[in-house]
Amino acid sequence: MAAVAILTTYPAVDYLVLWCPGCEEDHMIVPRRTGPGVTWDWNGDCEKPTISPSILSSGPPQTQCHSFVRDGVWEFLADCDHALAGQHVPMTRGPHWPPEPTTN
Ligand SMILES: [Zn+2]
Repeated sequence: MAAVAILTTYPAVDYLVLWCPGCEEDHMIVPRRTGPGVTWDWNGDCEKPTISPSILSSGPPQTQCHSFVRDGVWEFLADCDHALAGQHVPMTRGPHWPPEPTTN
């Protein structure tokens, strides 16, 4: 089961969409090889992604989320505001995501 969905929002720009169980919302990043602006290194693996540097998300208001993603596992840092701060949590698909396409 893939942990990462790739959604094409603009032509030639692919976002990685990561379901964050701490924030209970999606975090979106742009891999370095495809997008302009702030980007991350991604190992290209959708099931066990490794992403660097760390992901820092602020919002919803007064909520900070700071994490590493290594080998398909969220590593939430101690400065997260949510309940999973300091914990390692395996990545899963977002509950609101569409079903994965089946291949025959
Ligand atoms: Zn988060």
